[in-house]
Amino acid sequence: MDSRTQQLLAARLQYYRDLGIYDFYRRGVRGDVSAIEQPETIPASTYVTTSEDLFAAPKPEAGVVNRAEALRLIQEDLGECTRCVLSRLGRKTIVFGEGDPNAALMFVGEGPGADEDEQGRPFVGRAGQLLNKMIEAMGLKREQVYIANVVKCRPPGNRTPEREEIETCSPFLVRQIAVIQPRAIVALGAVAARCLLGLNEPMARMRGRWFDYRGIRLAVTYHPAFLLRDPRQKKEAWKDLQMVMAHLGLRPRRDGVD
Ligand code: URA
Repeated sequence: MDSRTQQLLAARLQYYRDLGIYDFYRRGVRGDVSAIEQPETIPASTYVTTSEDLFAAPKPEAGVVNRAEALRLIQEDLGECTRCVLSRLGRKTIVFGEGDPNAALMFVGEGPGADEDEQGRPFVGRAGQLLNKMIEAMGLKREQVYIANVVKCRPPGNRTPEREEIETCSPFLVRQIAVIQPRAIVALGAVAARCLLGLNEPMARMRGRWFDYRGIRLAVTYHPAFLLRDPRQKKEAWKDLQMVMAHLGLRPRRDGVD
């Protein structure tokens, strides 16, 4: 790369850094989907960070050993975010995420709903109550896990977050995961799974197996809001959670999610 191009690239990276964006992703080559059926863990290879090699910008949390403090620095960096349109579409509160910064298990949802927007906390509405039951059935307390979303602001009318919103916001989620380093992540629903894995697969192809997310095991299960609409699928979700429990050495407190 010639020096002029390097300068332009450095200026552009600084511009993104000022916006709070540190990681850059490019779509990798989509692997043969049939290969997904076979192995126990599948590398999430479709998004490749490139900032680590060239012009890597130090994130505020870089080198901070205390995870709570590192998360605080990420939240501070997020600030009163206006990076995407969701900030102008009726958002009341930014829902950063909550839980144990040292959690072994992290849940990732899609985005805040009305209750979360009011309270500034993830999964506190009806879907959240079901998530609490799922966590308790796994033999854990809510305070022992970490819960976050792909986007941190409520999409109007609870619509699915749009690609640009996800691309703008998800670097903060990526940073939260990098700090927490849980032993397992559970992606709740297709939006979270697709965002983290860079796949565009239906739920049926993503559930019931392990993926590798940057060295962390990732499982996909149904979003609690979907389970509220179709409670018959709770049995299936319980199978997903049992796979996670086996990995974490957890014993169920209840026999299923009701
Ligand atoms: N649904 C989500 O995906 N996240 C929340 O925080 C609440 C509902």
